[in-house]
Amino acid sequence: MDLALSSSELTFRDKIRTFLAEHLPQHVRDATAASPTVFVEPEIDRQWGALLHRKGWLAYQWPEDVGGPGWSAIQRYIFEKECALAGAPNLTALSLKLVAPVIYTFGTSAQKSFYLPRILSGEDYWCQGFSEPGAGSDLASLQCKAVRQGNKYIVNGTKMWTTHAHHANKIFCLLRTGTGDKRQSGISFILMDMNQPGIGVRPIYTLAGDREVNQVFFDNAVAQADDLIGEEGDGWKIAKFLLENERGGSCHAPKLLADLNAIEVASTMEPDGYGGKLSEDLQWKRRVARVRLSVEALEIIELRILANISKGRAPGAQTSLVKLLASNLRQDIDLLAVDLYGDFGLQLEPIRPLYGDNAPPPLHSRAAQIAGPRYLNSRAWSIFGGTNEVQANIIAKSVLRL
Ligand SMILES: Cc1cc2nc3c(=O)[nH]c(=O)nc-3n(C[C@H](O)[C@H](O)[C@H](O)COP(=O)(O)OP(=O)(O)OC[C@H]3O[C@@H](n4cnc5c(N)ncnc54)[C@H](O)[C@@H]3O)c2cc1C
Repeated sequence: MDLALSSSELTFRDKIRTFLAEHLPQHVRDATAASPTVFVEPEIDRQWGALLHRKGWLAYQWPEDVGGPGWSAIQRYIFEKECALAGAPNLTALSLKLVAPVIYTFGTSAQKSFYLPRILSGEDYWCQGFSEPGAGSDLASLQCKAVRQGNKYIVNGTKMWTTHAHHANKIFCLLRTGTGDKRQSGISFILMDMNQPGIGVRPIYTLAGDREVNQVFFDNAVAQADDLIGEEGDGWKIAKFLLENERGGSCHAPKLLADLNAIEVASTMEPDGYGGKLSEDLQWKRRVARVRLSVEALEIIELRILANISKGRAPGAQTSLVKLLASNLRQDIDLLAVDLYGDFGLQLEPIRPLYGDNAPPPLHSRAAQIAGPRYLNSRAWSIFGGTNEVQANIIAKSVLRL
């Protein structure tokens, strides 16, 4: 595999770099740098999304016939890397990278032409209703039920850990529509409106005090039968497709590298406690080098997966390898940031947001203020999208054939 960029890829990279330098607003960079959660708040996401949409780059992962720019896998990688290095936010994966591929792969033409433009315009903001109080790793034990009545489904039950349900006007759900010979066979993938009397949303505050996740309650909520994706009972097949995208749909190495670069730069200004700078400390240098090598190894794995995708091969269980490595590295890097700032890295500012005119003033720097909340929030990386233990099981079974 050739990792060097060709001259046309370098030209493409420069085009992206110039666009970001000229168009990524400073307040969006600041908000991204000061957001301790995985996703930025929707008002920031929408501003950046609208700029990318005008340029035709928002759906950069979608096929050309449904609105994508027609980029190759390596061009998409270059775009993600340049965005990460420039400090652009993670775009809402829930809409663009999770539900959209399901709609354009399994949806009817009416579903595609109704929903995809609304994702691009920002009119619809989606959340994911898969997990339940008794169904996380063992997703097939889900109980939330949809009963068909004419051209509608009546939905009862609850969904748990629903990211940004308090912002979303739409939810895509795995719902039990029947019983089959296997638990997996009675599950369907159904789209629903959040803004209806049968749906309630209860906040769950994270360790750091952020509101990112929720519990969603369905009490005779209504879904339209036209919003069933595929056939009744296809939900498990579609969920597997979606989870592969969730685990490996984007490259993680670019953002990890960008954050590690920022830590290395900051360590040239932080004291080591012995009259020198932390960047000169041998143990610190060893820790940073170890993480950097692992991130670079992850980057090579991600590029290898992209090379396979561009040859038409599905990434399959390799995405579990990426999810596992990326989650561990995310946590390693966020721990480095806490250690970098010493006592200042341990502060736990409860006020949000940590950007804008009303942000609480930092004791040391904004980066130090964000280090503690970010460290606590990134504990979730080894849980969401499938826990580390579950990824290890998949790798053992499907990659190593143990
Ligand atoms: C911040 C955050 C955001 C989330 N966002 C969403 C969302 O938007 N939508 C959504 O549907 N879900 C979401 N989730 C839920 C997430 O997918 C589940 O938390 C996850 O799948 C784990 O399920 P669980 O919490 O029920 O834990 P459990 O499945 O009960 O696991 C508990 C422990 O047991 C271990 N374990 C379980 N089974 C096995 C096994 N077979 N072998 C070895 N160990 C095992 C797990 O690794 C874990 O350590 C989110 C979670 C978090 C933390």
